[in-house]
Amino acid sequence: MRDEHRLLIALQDLDIMIKEVKDKATSKELQSLGFKLTGLSELQEAREKLAKKTQKGLLQRYEKLTEHFTVAILPVTGNLCLGCFVKLPTSFFSAVSRNELQTCENCGRLLYIP
Ligand SMILES: [Zn+2]
Repeated sequence: MRDEHRLLIALQDLDIMIKEVKDKATSKELQSLGFKLTGLSELQEAREKLAKKTQKGLLQRYEKLTEHFTVAILPVTGNLCLGCFVKLPTSFFSAVSRNELQTCENCGRLLYIP
């Protein structure tokens, strides 16, 4: 997998964490379990740094997708898109496309072959 794709996946992980910390029900639950939620600004700072390193076009596509989906970039498992569970065409798995991010034709999410 390409570094730029790794960056985007790391960015998404951070976004999900930030979302969870911001979500009040989750943060109450975490606090009651003894977690201190002081890391939000650090998370956001790390997110900014990653966003700057991420290729601009990719980042824009990702951010557009996250308007609709929590998870915008997904690994392919079996021959299914794990976003919408539609079967992917065989062209998806050609040698050329293995190193590329691809788009699910059904839901539009970004997919990669792990
Ligand atoms: Zn899909």
